[in-house]
Amino acid sequence: MENKIPRLFSPNAWICAVFSHNFTVSQRITDHIKEYKCTRCGQEMTDTAQGFIAKLTPKFRETNAYIAKIHKRRRSRKVFAENDFSRAS
Ligand SMILES: [Zn+2]
Repeated sequence: MENKIPRLFSPNAWICAVFSHNFTVSQRITDHIKEYKCTRCGQEMTDTAQGFIAKLTPKFRETNAYIAKIHKRRRSRKVFAENDFSRAS
């Protein structure tokens, strides 16, 4: 009988439900936006542009990837500009 009940949560997820998640930074998008992953159950969260923490949905993942791309480009452009400056002076 018990086998017919679908197992919705892993034991780790139960630990998280009781003791709360154990998040570590899984990806650094910008200085202010990071993605987090729970080391026990694998639940993923993200900082949002609005300044709160939300569950990492495919939509947020896509947005973060886009922000990371812009951020990286902006940073490399800054380095390039600094190199130009040092060359000129
Ligand atoms: Zn967890």
